[in-house]
Amino acid sequence: MLREFRCIQDCSDCCIYRQYYPSVDYGKIGVLLLPEEKKEIENLAQAHKINLTIFPRLGIGVNKGSNGPSHVIAYQLMGTNINGDYCPFLDIKGSNRSPHGGFSCMIYNRRPLSCRAYPAIKENKMEVELDNNCRFSCRHSNQVGKSLLDNELSALTRISNNFERFAEQVIWRYATHIGDQPFMKLLLPRGWYLQDK
Ligand code: SF4
Ligand code: SF4
Repeated sequence: MLREFRCIQDCSDCCIYRQYYPSVDYGKIGVLLLPEEKKEIENLAQAHKINLTIFPRLGIGVNKGSNGPSHVIAYQLMGTNINGDYCPFLDIKGSNRSPHGGFSCMIYNRRPLSCRAYPAIKENKMEVELDNNCRFSCRHSNQVGKSLLDNELSALTRISNNFERFAEQVIWRYATHIGDQPFMKLLLPRGWYLQDK
């Protein structure tokens, strides 16, 4: 029987643990922010008296001899831990819990689109791909009904529409140089790198 996506009891993993992407060389990524979301997230942080670190994530455009893109098309909200984990909006000290028992998000009703879409990461006409790092996906990914993921997929569509217009462009990716201790010496320096198509 197909089921609806629901968070696993007491899990907050996707708000805590950040992944190395596209490889460990680039360091851990933060929460994806579209350019139009950045200002609102900064305002919310100010209202909650939270310090944020926001790095660029993806850029486009190249001039001969340039060291980076001419235009940033995505940013990322970095974790508060030295190893890149823990979203700054995750309320780990408060007593409030989300309905499924996990730590609560201080900006839940205004959270970024990437948080609304998760764990859906790709879709085609027939199926939806869920992130294997999500605890729900590990257990149930083959039993999830696409029609039961309406909210996640509408957020994912809005993100994809934003990037589709840049499909033919040269893409730059920002290396964060943030990660767990054993990897730190191996990571690329922080900064922009041209992506191979
Ligand atoms: S989306 Fe997945 S990883 Fe995130 S809290 Fe829910 S079950 Fe856990
Ligand atoms: S903004 Fe909220 S939902 Fe998104 S990662 Fe942070 S705590 Fe989690």
